[in-house]
Amino acid sequence: MIKVDEALKIILKSIKPLGSEAVKLTSILGRVLADDIYADSCIPAFDNSAMDGYAVRAIDTQDSSQDKPRILDVIEDLKAGYLAKNTIRHNQAIRIMTGAVMPLGADSVVVVEETQKLGKNKVEIFAPIKQGENVRLKGEDIEKGELIIAKGTLLSAGHIGVLASLGRQYIKVTRKPKIAILATGDELVDVGKKLKPGKIRSSNTHTLYAQILKSGGIPKNLGIAKDRCSELEAKIKKGLDCDVIISSGGVSVGDYDFVKHVLGKMGTRIKFWKVAMRPGKPLVFGMIKGIPVFGLPGNPVSSMVSFEIFVIPAILKMLGQGMDNKKEVKAILEEGVEKKKGLRYFLRASTIWKPDSYYTRTTGPQGSGILKSMALANSLIILPEEEEKVEKGVRVTVRFLD
Ligand code: AMP
Ligand code: MG
Repeated sequence: MIKVDEALKIILKSIKPLGSEAVKLTSILGRVLADDIYADSCIPAFDNSAMDGYAVRAIDTQDSSQDKPRILDVIEDLKAGYLAKNTIRHNQAIRIMTGAVMPLGADSVVVVEETQKLGKNKVEIFAPIKQGENVRLKGEDIEKGELIIAKGTLLSAGHIGVLASLGRQYIKVTRKPKIAILATGDELVDVGKKLKPGKIRSSNTHTLYAQILKSGGIPKNLGIAKDRCSELEAKIKKGLDCDVIISSGGVSVGDYDFVKHVLGKMGTRIKFWKVAMRPGKPLVFGMIKGIPVFGLPGNPVSSMVSFEIFVIPAILKMLGQGMDNKKEVKAILEEGVEKKKGLRYFLRASTIWKPDSYYTRTTGPQGSGILKSMALANSLIILPEEEEKVEKGVRVTVRFLD
């Protein structure tokens, strides 16, 4: 039996980042950027007005006031998207809309609210303006040549906006890992089929499917294999076109737990079996024909927690995204808990922010088959191996599930 940290190290050492693909801008949300993006132009590309108003020379507005407004000649109307035909000279203004290119000669924009139209071609200015006021300068957002989004970034709407501003239509993102899911057990029946006495639903098929989707993978459901070596082998073979294979169940010490045996027979280099944790102890990891294979435990919560702790970091490495430690915070434990020394515990918990700190409590019974407390949980309390008892009020590490 090895420790969680050691197991994770072995897994990450075996995982290689996947290649990249060019994807249309409209489909890159939540994907991981494969190359650094440098700006090939300035944003904005030209000095432009930040307001609706009048483009002027600041010097022509000096000494103006509500009582003694300066009066300027309006020589042109300028909409966003067009260039001014005239250059502004002494005591002249151009009516300008937000986003329009600053006319030659103008150095600032007086907002509409500080002005009053006078007849057809004149405007009163009620307050002096400073040079450069209400002007957005070329390159003030993004400078040409600037590193604007780094490789490995998880792309958000904001990133997509920047890429659109730069006119980038296709973006190189990392390939999503295709991940095979195999449920094992004579007792399992999928949803939609009749449940005979003694049988149960294969919930792991669906929790794993959802967990893969959520972490950026493409799930491939291999269905359910009976606890027979030939059937396990045949089904596992169907996952060999994937980047990862995940099975659940059949990996403990029961009389019909054949997964590890079959994997070995198929030439898998088994890297470890059994991890000092609860839930999730019986877990096998190896490489089958160069593909990482996780034999997760069958108990529904063990399967989910093992995925969270071991498979997600593997997926992130494949995606080139790096670890996301952002998910872990310190929280005050609202109840005392006891544990077995030597195992790392992952307790299903509800963690919320109160004015001074995060607080956390378990969401119910922690048996590895009890899915309800997992469904109610937004986080896992992580208790270190060496602890035996953790008192109420102690600060513990909590990992958010979302
Ligand atoms: P095993 O490790 O195969 O002995 O499974 C441990 C427990 O998990 C047993 O109670 C199984 O019935 C249950 N189990 C195994 N696979 C699944 C699954 N796909 N969905 C729900 N429960 C499962
Ligand atoms: Mg089984």
